[in-house]
Amino acid sequence: MEIQSQEDQRGRGLIFIISAPSGTGKTTLVKRVMELLHGLRFSVSYTTRPPRTGEQEGVDYHFISPDAFREMIEKEQFLEWAEVLGHCYGTARVDIEALKSEGVDLILDIDTQGAKKAKEKLDHAVLIFLLPPSIDALEERLKGRGLDSLERIQFRLAHAKRDIEESHWYHHIIVNERIEEAVEKLKALILTERCRKEMNHGKSDSGRLLEKCGKPV
Ligand code: ADP
Ligand code: 5GP
Repeated sequence: MEIQSQEDQRGRGLIFIISAPSGTGKTTLVKRVMELLHGLRFSVSYTTRPPRTGEQEGVDYHFISPDAFREMIEKEQFLEWAEVLGHCYGTARVDIEALKSEGVDLILDIDTQGAKKAKEKLDHAVLIFLLPPSIDALEERLKGRGLDSLERIQFRLAHAKRDIEESHWYHHIIVNERIEEAVEKLKALILTERCRKEMNHGKSDSGRLLEKCGKPV
């Protein structure tokens, strides 16, 4: 029993890519799940957008200038990058072997363009699309967040509809109606992926248990 729970809390070098229309609740959801599960790391993206109130350098994003962003593109330092709603966003290259040996899984909160590029490079990545319960609910959340003008909210909503059309090529869809339910679903999904045999170097939990008991497998 103890071995099982320790195993659940250890990452396998998995990559979870989460996309959603802005305002759906990605940030809220990811933060909640990271408080509940060990062995998860958030991939801190680079962006040219200015920080919002409360956002911290190196925690929410690495906030850099357009020149510094261009330099990173030229030096091929990004796994993927894209222009989203007028700003540039990019994910630094990922060292899967290092993640595996550290026992962590990585969560990428990136848009649909970036997810498509990352999917081509990371064939085992698990793609999750978070949907709002309705466009009206999304509008309410964007208004409730209090970050945008009404004009900007309409721009985000138009963009949201295009994003949702991309959801069909994701592996999983979670509807964020009640946050507690969405948290449970994402948590369950991560734990399930951690049980996948091929993600455990070809060894099942039973194989690793036998190894721990000193039995050859
Ligand atoms: P995103 O990161 O997708 O842009 P946020 O996590 O910033 O979205 O959430 C947008 C707003 O919606 C925030 O004010 C947040 O508290 C709220 N929110 C998130 N999930 C829910 C939910 N299930 N029900 C109601 N409000 C929510
Ligand atoms: P926000 O500015 O609201 O934090 O994010 C705007 C959008 O940019 C969201 O859809 C978010 O998922 C996306 N985003 C954040 N980081 C990255 C990244 O590194 N790459 C890509 N392609 N999109 C990103």
